[in-house]
Amino acid sequence: MDEEYDYAKLKDAGKAAYEALEYSRKVVKPGMTLLEIADILEKRIIEKGFELAFPVNLSVNENAAHYTPHASDATRVAEKDIIKVDLGARKDEYLSDCAITIGLGESTSKMIEASEEALENAISLVRAGRQVNEIGREIGKVAEKHGFRPIRNLGGHGVGRDDLHSGVFIPNFDNGDTTMLEEGEVIAIEPFITDGEGMVRDGELLQIFQKTMDATPRQNDLRAVSEFIDSRYRTYPFALRWLQKEFPRIGEFGIRRTLNELATRGALESFPVLVERKGGMVAQSEKEVIVEKEGCYIVTR
Ligand code: MN
Ligand code: MN
Repeated sequence: MDEEYDYAKLKDAGKAAYEALEYSRKVVKPGMTLLEIADILEKRIIEKGFELAFPVNLSVNENAAHYTPHASDATRVAEKDIIKVDLGARKDEYLSDCAITIGLGESTSKMIEASEEALENAISLVRAGRQVNEIGREIGKVAEKHGFRPIRNLGGHGVGRDDLHSGVFIPNFDNGDTTMLEEGEVIAIEPFITDGEGMVRDGELLQIFQKTMDATPRQNDLRAVSEFIDSRYRTYPFALRWLQKEFPRIGEFGIRRTLNELATRGALESFPVLVERKGGMVAQSEKEVIVEKEGCYIVTR
């Protein structure tokens, strides 16, 4: 880990995200739109003087991850929904990432508890020298003990300075990867548990994007959008609805044209909604930690 790494800033970003996440328990109620909830939670983080590490994700039921509402999203929270609230704050180039699952019906409470227990057990295993597959094995074991499956093609990840997903992959089952955690490394652990197949596929909805390199379209409108992305979001993930708010005159069609052009040039990454392959319900719990010699420090607390 580099010498100038500022753990204090990381911890600040972690605290801000955790506070917003806990606040979401009071906010999310049947009848609300996902758009209202996302707005409230994003404002909460911004009002504390932080940037958003990424758009607030509100993935409902069989949607496991990467659902953020679109500008005219009328989706409302229903009585029995199981909602993954996944959010993060950014202070300079330090990023936090954490998630809880809110179950409004009784039927999914066991699955949510299993994801929480899996996360807790996984965190208790973290220390320098721990193999990532040992963590995955524990997550898988807890899922199965409760009669569920871990999602095998989703997992935790290293959190780099300036890069939300970098370095190590933390599996949700024993995938045989014996990579060892290192002291000072920052990782997010996120068990995903389901009563479905235990795999996700790419869905169709595309609302979250991230610029990956410099590229500026020539046409005026398109250039304005692209330059705004560069100055405001740089290479951090952003939501289409954020741009729509900024450029009402250009509108969704024009903004999508900009994004398409950037994608054609290989300068844009997009994040489709990830959907459980058999349509199973999904629960997720996530915390970010700093690996220590004999344990870990929880950043999102
Ligand atoms: Mn997350
Ligand atoms: Mn994550």
